Amino acid sequence: MPSQQQSLFDTTPPEWEVDAREQRLVASVVMGSGAPGEYDYLVPNQFADADRPEQLLEAGRRVRVPFGRGNRTVEGYCVGLETKAVDTSRLKSVAQVVDSASLLSLSMLRLTRWMADYYLCPWGQVLEGVVPAGVRKLAGTREVTLLHVPHDVQENLPHTKFGSAQQKKALETLLAGKRPLTVAQLAEAAGCTAGPIRQLLKKGLLEAQIKRVASSDLDEEVHQREQPLDLNPEQQQVLESIDEALESAQPRGLVLHGVTGSGKTEVYLQAIERVVSYGRQAIVLVPEISLTPQTVRRFRARFDRVAVLHSHLRDVQRHAQWQRIAKGEVQVIVGARSAIFAPAPQLGLIVIDEEHESSFKQDSAPRYHARDVAWQRAQSESIPLVLGSATPSLEAWHRVQRGEFEKLSLPKRVMNLPMPDVMTVDLRDPMQSQGSRGGISRPLHQAMTAALRDDGQVILLLNRRGFSTHIQCPACGYVLQCKNCELSMTYHRQKNSTICHYCDHQEPPPTTCPDCKSTAIRYGGLGTQRLEDEVRGRFRDHVCARMDTDSMRARGSHEDVLSRFRAGEIQILLGTQMIAKGLDFPNVTLVGVINADTALHLPDFRAGERTFQLVAQVAGRTGRGKKGGRVLVQTLSPDHPAIQAAVRHDYPRYAAHEMQLRKQLKYPPFGAMIRLVVRGPKEETTRGVAEDMADRLNDRRPDGDEVRVVGPAPAAIPKLRGSYRFQIQVQAPTMEPLHHTVSRATEKYKPAGEVVVTIDVDPWDMM
Ligand code: ADP
Ligand code: ZN
Ligand code: ZN
Repeated sequence: MPSQQQSLFDTTPPEWEVDAREQRLVASVVMGSGAPGEYDYLVPNQFADADRPEQLLEAGRRVRVPFGRGNRTVEGYCVGLETKAVDTSRLKSVAQVVDSASLLSLSMLRLTRWMADYYLCPWGQVLEGVVPAGVRKLAGTREVTLLHVPHDVQENLPHTKFGSAQQKKALETLLAGKRPLTVAQLAEAAGCTAGPIRQLLKKGLLEAQIKRVASSDLDEEVHQREQPLDLNPEQQQVLESIDEALESAQPRGLVLHGVTGSGKTEVYLQAIERVVSYGRQAIVLVPEISLTPQTVRRFRARFDRVAVLHSHLRDVQRHAQWQRIAKGEVQVIVGARSAIFAPAPQLGLIVIDEEHESSFKQDSAPRYHARDVAWQRAQSESIPLVLGSATPSLEAWHRVQRGEFEKLSLPKRVMNLPMPDVMTVDLRDPMQSQGSRGGISRPLHQAMTAALRDDGQVILLLNRRGFSTHIQCPACGYVLQCKNCELSMTYHRQKNSTICHYCDHQEPPPTTCPDCKSTAIRYGGLGTQRLEDEVRGRFRDHVCARMDTDSMRARGSHEDVLSRFRAGEIQILLGTQMIAKGLDFPNVTLVGVINADTALHLPDFRAGERTFQLVAQVAGRTGRGKKGGRVLVQTLSPDHPAIQAAVRHDYPRYAAHEMQLRKQLKYPPFGAMIRLVVRGPKEETTRGVAEDMADRLNDRRPDGDEVRVVGPAPAAIPKLRGSYRFQIQVQAPTMEPLHHTVSRATEKYKPAGEVVVTIDVDPWDMM
C-alpha cells in the first residue's frame, strides 16, 4: 500500500533530488479514527533507543503524531517500521509513543489488515474494534514513581553522610524492604514526611523510576479438578483426526457435525489437552448465550489457567486478561466472538462451538464474522480450526462439499441414548387446538401433564417477548406502531407499558383506538409473559419460571434460574431462544415449541435455515437422561422442509434441500453478497442517496452480468429509530469483483444530508 503522506509528492524524483534523500527510520501509521490510509512519519532517535524499551517504537504500539495542515495531534497505530531513503523535509515526526509494549503482534496486524480489505472498513477502525477499550485505556494500571537505592550508594553506605537522622532512617527502611516503594509508601514506612525523601533524591542517594503497574491483582478462582472421560469409539476417531491435523502443522478446517448430546465438548477438551501439552494455547469461541457457568466450569475443571472473555467484563478485568494472555500465561481462552482476537503468543488450535450461531457475526463496523476471521488466523498461524455444530451453517457445509474443509461426525448421542421422538401439532387443525384459547394445544397440554406426573421437567420455547405482541383496532384496522420505527409495539404487563423491541421507545397502553376512538381495541399475539400466565393457570401445582431478556435483566438471575431448574425446584422452564441452546439437563423429558413459524416467513433467505436450527437445537434439550424424552412442535406449516427435517433429526437432508434453493437463486454460499443500507432522517433525501449509490455501483461494475445490483428498495424494516432505510444488494459468483465494485463506488463518496451508508460484506441480518 502506498503511503499517502509521501505519495502526495512521490513521483519519480528528479536526479538532483536523490542526493537530498537520507536513510532514515520511518514509521507507517494508521489513524485510529478519521482519515483512512497509511501515513509515513520519521522516527526520532529517542524512540529508537533499545535501552529505553518503554518508549521504543515497534509495530503494534500506538503513537501520537501531528496530522493535517493544522498539525493537530492525533493518535494512531504504528503498523510497520522501515529504514529507507526519504526526503526528510517532507515528513513529519512521531511526537510520542503511547504504549510501553506492543498491543498487536505482526500476525495480528496482518489479520486486521485482511479484515480491513475484506470487510471494506478502514484499517484504523478495525484496530479500534479489535483492541478492547480497556486495553486502549490501559485500564486498571497507573503510573507510579518508584524509589530505589542506586548500587554505588549501597556499596558506600558506611561512609555516607546524611543531612538528618530522618534521611538515614528513610534510606535504611527502603533497603530493608527489598522492593521499590513510592514516596508515600516510604514516608509511611519510615515514619517521616516527604521532605527528607526529596532531599535524598536531590543528593542522588535515591533514584526515582516511572513504572506502569496494575492497580489490582486478578482474583483467580480455584476449581475442583475432573479427569477426562473415556471416549466412545466415535469420539476417539474424531479426536484422532484432530490430533493428526495438529501434528500436520498445516492450516486445516474441520467441520464437526455432531448431534446434540454427542459429546463434542468432551472431544474439544481432550484435543486442547494435547495442545496445552505442547506448550501452546487454544481459543474456544462459544455464543455469548452459552457462556454459562456450566460451560465455564467444564473448562476450569480441566485446565489450570483459563481466561473467560464475556461481554460483562469491566475494562480493568479485560485489560488484565489481555495482558495475561499476551504473556502466554493462559492455556485456554474461552469467550464470545471477539475472543478470536485474544493475543495468544503461540496459538495451537481454534474451536468454534455452535458455529452456526448468528452471534458470531458482528453487527457494527467492522462487520466481521468470527468464523471467517478464525479461518484467516488459522491459515496465518498454520493451525487447525474446528467448527462444531449439530446444525452446521450452510457456509461451513459448502466448504466441506467443495473439499476445502474436512468432515468429522458424531452421529449418535453418548451412552447410546436415543434421539428424542419429535411430533408436530398442526395448529390449522381445529381438533388439535380445540379447547385452547391460549398458546398450548390439547396434545401439548396432555404431554405436559404426563411428563410432570412422571416427575420429569418441561421446557417450552416461544421466541417472542412481552405479553401481547400485537395491539389492533378491529373497528378500523389501526395497529399500534412505534413512532420511531414502523414496527408493532408489544404490551408488557409488569411495566403496564407498550414497548418497541427495536428502540425501546415506551408508551402507555391505549384503552381506546388512537385513530377512531373505538373502545374495542384488542391486545392480541402471544408473548412469553402471557404464556407464563397460561402455564401457571393450567399447572397450579408446579413451579414455572420464565427466561427472556426482560426477566433476566438482573446479574446472576440466569444462573440462579438454571441452578434451581437443575435442582428440580422449578419444573417448567419457558422462554425465548435463550433456553434453546447448550443446556444439558437429564431430567427434561418434554420440550414444547409453542410456535415454530415465528421466523419462518421473514423476508430473509436464511429464514428456513434458522427455523431448522432453532427447532433442532431446542429438541436437543431433551432425552439426555435414562427417562428418554419427546418433543412437540406446534406449527401452521408442518410440511415445510425445515420443520420436516428437524422432526426427523435429518441435517444432511435439510442441507441438501436448502443448498439446491440457494444454488438456484445464486445466494450464499453459492456466490458472494454485499449489502448496503442507506439510512437517513428524511425519506426523500435518503431514497435519493440510495438511487445515486445504485447508479454508482452500476457504473463501476465490470462489463457483463457477473455483478448484479439489486435495488434500491425499502429495507424489510423500512423505518428504524427515526431513520428511513433503503437497501441495495450486490451479488456475484465470487467476492473479488464485488469488492472492486463496492469499494470504487463508495470511496470518497459523501452522501447528502445526514444520510449514512453502511457496507455489510457477507450480510447476516437481512432486515
Ligand atoms: P455436546 O457438546 O455434543 O452437546 P457434551 O460434550 O456436552 O455434548 O456431552 C453431553 C453429555 O455427555 C455431558 O454430560 C458429558 O459429560 C457426557 N459425555 C460426553 N462424552 C462422554 C463419554 N465418552 N462417556 C460418558 N459421558 C460422556
Ligand atoms: Zn380504530
Ligand atoms: Zn422503535
